[in-house]
Amino acid sequence: MVGGYIKMNNNTHYDTSNIFAKIIRKEIPCQLVLENEFAMAFYDIAPKALIHVLLIPKGNFINAHHFHDNASLEEISGFYRLQSSIVEHLGLNEKGYRLISNTGSHGRQEVLHYHLHILGGEPLSCML
Ligand code: AMP
Repeated sequence: MVGGYIKMNNNTHYDTSNIFAKIIRKEIPCQLVLENEFAMAFYDIAPKALIHVLLIPKGNFINAHHFHDNASLEEISGFYRLQSSIVEHLGLNEKGYRLISNTGSHGRQEVLHYHLHILGGEPLSCML
């Protein structure tokens, strides 16, 4: 680790000062929905739907690609199992929901820690 950055093997850098890293370290609060050893979910501070939850891994991963290529199988299953638990917990399964993972500048990713947006609780507008 150099300063607040951890160098990855594909020449990318994880910035440990990002807001979700601070939430994981409990330096700033969040409205927790559920968590397990490998992941946690909390309500988005600026919801885009009646229900808008963010699911993040607890490890230092920048985006979906980085997570899928570098996380252990336990981290990956812990993350996606928690996604299913959240959907059940919030009663989203019957009528459906949307998963979004913004990636990079073209994907308009603002927080450079991998996260899934889980949106639902009402009929959603079209994709973009
Ligand atoms: P993205 O554009 O995919 O990187 O989305 C980042 C999301 O993080 C946005 O929907 C923000 O509203 C949300 N966000 C930023 N800061 C916080 C925070 N402190 N607690 C909860 N959600 C946050």
